[in-house]
Amino acid sequence: MKVTLLGTGTSTGVPIIGCRCRVCTSKDPRDNRTRCACLVETNGLHLVIDTGPDFRRQALQAQFKKVDAVLFTHHHFDHVVGLDDLRPFFFDNRSPIPCYARPNTAAVLRTMFHYIFTDGSYPGVSRLELYEPEGPFRVHGRYTPEAAVDVVPIEVYHGKLPMYGYRIGRFAYLTDTNRIPERSFEQLRGLDVLVLDALRHEPHQTHFTIQEAVETARRIGARQTYFIHMTHSMLHAEEDARLPAGINLGYDGLSFHVSNPPPSAF
Ligand SMILES: [Zn+2]
Ligand SMILES: [Zn+2]
Ligand SMILES: [Zn+2]
Repeated sequence: MKVTLLGTGTSTGVPIIGCRCRVCTSKDPRDNRTRCACLVETNGLHLVIDTGPDFRRQALQAQFKKVDAVLFTHHHFDHVVGLDDLRPFFFDNRSPIPCYARPNTAAVLRTMFHYIFTDGSYPGVSRLELYEPEGPFRVHGRYTPEAAVDVVPIEVYHGKLPMYGYRIGRFAYLTDTNRIPERSFEQLRGLDVLVLDALRHEPHQTHFTIQEAVETARRIGARQTYFIHMTHSMLHAEEDARLPAGINLGYDGLSFHVSNPPPSAF
């Protein structure tokens, strides 16, 4: 299984429009953070986690030509507004793309994208099917129907908002969170790689700080943890060097391999 962090920035992206701070003007490409999204390639399937405002640019950059499913974490702007840029993935394959979201997020998506999810009569509209899983589910390939991958939604809290992280094999992706319920910690045992929200050093009502994220990463105990959703207060080279062993800042375009047992193992 190959995972690519398509975007690793907070909701404004970094650089922030109009800001001349040392991170926003940094020459280090790792300080250039588009909005959070992730690509998981496994068993011949391509799963996208979130389609934010930078999704089109990210898909061009990562050069992926197929999408088998989309996993939505929650319905904030920076995670969903690029949804219509899924249209090119129908040009050579008109079969629907299944989208998965927690019911509260699915309800908002149906309103935001009424012309796709409710009307659907406009010519060339994306054929997206919205599912609201409450437990583990299996995704089948749009291009290779015999291939499949199992996904476990992990409930986390983003301030007061309940939302989903996702686990696939020994990999888990938890963006936009500052509280993980006990039962979710149990679902996060035995990870090789964890991707976790770590906004900045200063406290925030809906995101983990770096210190909170380090403590949470240690408790989950993945072999390797990457932080995402960072603001412009985080200079990559400086902050990454201060993190404990096995924990690093993610950056746009970072990819890594993780083992994923075949679906029959579930
Ligand atoms: Zn966000
Ligand atoms: Zn700045
Ligand atoms: Zn959010």
